[in-house]
Amino acid sequence: MNNSILLNNRPKETPTNDDFKFVETEKPSPKNGEVLLKTRYVSVDPYLRGRMRDEKSYIPPFELNKPISSMLVAEVSESKNDDFNKGDFVSGMLQWKKFQTSDGEGLQKIDPDVAPLSAYLGVLGMTGLTAYFGLTEIGKPQQGETILVSGAAGAVGSTVGQIAKIKDCTAIGIAGSDEKIDLIKNKFGFDAGINYKTTENMQEAISKAAPDGIDVYYDNVGGEILDAAMQNMNRNGRIINCGAIASYNKSETPTGPRVEGQLIKKSLSMQGFTIGNDFGDRMKEGSEQLGKWLQDGKLKHEETIVEGFDSIPQAFIDLFSGKNKGKMVVKTD
Ligand code: NDP
Repeated sequence: MNNSILLNNRPKETPTNDDFKFVETEKPSPKNGEVLLKTRYVSVDPYLRGRMRDEKSYIPPFELNKPISSMLVAEVSESKNDDFNKGDFVSGMLQWKKFQTSDGEGLQKIDPDVAPLSAYLGVLGMTGLTAYFGLTEIGKPQQGETILVSGAAGAVGSTVGQIAKIKDCTAIGIAGSDEKIDLIKNKFGFDAGINYKTTENMQEAISKAAPDGIDVYYDNVGGEILDAAMQNMNRNGRIINCGAIASYNKSETPTGPRVEGQLIKKSLSMQGFTIGNDFGDRMKEGSEQLGKWLQDGKLKHEETIVEGFDSIPQAFIDLFSGKNKGKMVVKTD
C-alpha cells in the first residue's frame, strides 16, 4: 500500500496536526517513460505555510484534499525511463507520498558519494542556494563590512553567516535560544549572536553587538526584529528580504513603524526575492560554488533529522517554534 499526506484544512494561525490528513492508496505502477520513486527524505520549509493560504502568490496555493508537495529526495525503485536506472537517487519538487511515479521532468540526479542525501535538501539545495544568491547578489557584501542575519541558526541563516565570513565580513546572528547562539558562534564561526527571546531591547542589543552599524541585513523573519535592525543600518546599507516567518501565522496583516524615513535618510535599499523566480537559471553555478566550499571545509552544515513519514506534519509545525537547528528534514525510512 501507499501513504499520502493531504491538506485537510487551511490553517487559521499556527498549523496543527488536524490541518493534515493521512490516506492509504494503492502503490502506483510506472507506465512507459516513467519511474517509480520511493521517498527517502522530505524537506519541510516555512514557505509551505504560505501555500496553505488560498491566495494568489508567486506559487499556486495547495488545494484542499490534495497531496502537499515540497522538495524530496527519492530513490528510483523501478524505471521505464531511459534516463534513470533502478537505484539512482534524485531530488525534485514531489508530493508527500511514500511512493509516486514521475516522467522524470524536473528531477535532478544526485550523488550520495559527494554529500549525504539529506544535504541536497539543505546546504546543497534550495536553502543553501537562497543564502548564496540572496547574500552575494542582493547584499553584495564587501570585505570588512558587518552583516546581520536573523534566523541565524536555521538552514538559510547559518549558511548566510558562513558565506559572510568567507567574504571577510563580520557576521552577527540573531536566533531564539542560547544553545543556538553557541552553535552559530562555535560551529559556524559567527562573531557575535543575540538571543531575541531573552533580549528586551533588540535595537540596543544590535547596536552593542555592532558598534559600527550594519551594512547588510539578511532578513529571514521580518516583524519587530526587522524594525530593530533598520534603526542600526549604515548609510548605503542593503536589506535583503528573504523571509518573514514572524508573520506567516498571523491572520491579520501586521503593522509597524514606517520604513521610508530610514530608507531616505540613509540611502538604504531593501529588496525581496524568491530563489526560483530570481535565480532559477543559475542553480548549477550556485550548487558548484556551495559544493566547493563544502569540500574545502569552508562551509559546515547542521541538520535536524526527524524519523518517519508520519512525522512530516509535526516537523513542519515545529519550524514555527524553532525546534530545528540547521535544516529540518524528515527521513522517511
Ligand atoms: P529555518 O531553518 O530558519 O527554520 C525556521 C526558523 O525560524 C526556526 O528554527 C526559528 O528559529 C525561526 N522562527 C520561527 N518563528 C519565528 C518568529 N516568530 N520570529 C523569529 N524567528 C522565528 O528555515 P529556512 O532556513 O528554511 O527559512 C528561513 C527563512 O527564509 C524563512 O522565512 C523562509 O520562508 C525564507 N526562505 C525564503 C526563500 C526565498 O526564496 N525567498 C527560500 C527559502 C527560505 P529560532 O529558534 O531562532 O526562533
